[in-house]
Amino acid sequence: MREYVKPLVLANEDLAEGVYAASGECWTVEVTLAQKNAGGPNTYNNYRVKAVHPTGLAHISTKSVTTIVFNQDVTDAYFDSGDASVSGNVVVVTRESHANAYGDGDNFNSLLSVYANNLDTLSVVSADISCTHGTNVQGGFD
Ligand SMILES: [Zn+2]
Repeated sequence: MREYVKPLVLANEDLAEGVYAASGECWTVEVTLAQKNAGGPNTYNNYRVKAVHPTGLAHISTKSVTTIVFNQDVTDAYFDSGDASVSGNVVVVTRESHANAYGDGDNFNSLLSVYANNLDTLSVVSADISCTHGTNVQGGFD
């Protein structure tokens, strides 16, 4: 199946400290620190990843991809609602939608556990989210 990803634009102005949000034509995402040293000292920090696909905007979406940049290298990451992959200081979180799901009103609010060498100073630099569109039953996009 052919897919394409619509690029989205970051909007990080006017945010409360510790809240990192991005919005585009469909998904919006917020990443907030939930708990430092959540598994005990020198273990991992938990971050809450909260994303909403607006109601009234229905198109076929196969997955959302959230890219979170941290201020230092991450050694490992686990996501409650999908896959998390780590490359340097970047964690990419992928949440699959159910087959041929329309994105209307979809949302998730899930924990991301992040391992790093200095959890006390670990912080989120930016967060971005994109929507992967699939083909509809007529074979066209959206
Ligand atoms: Zn979408």
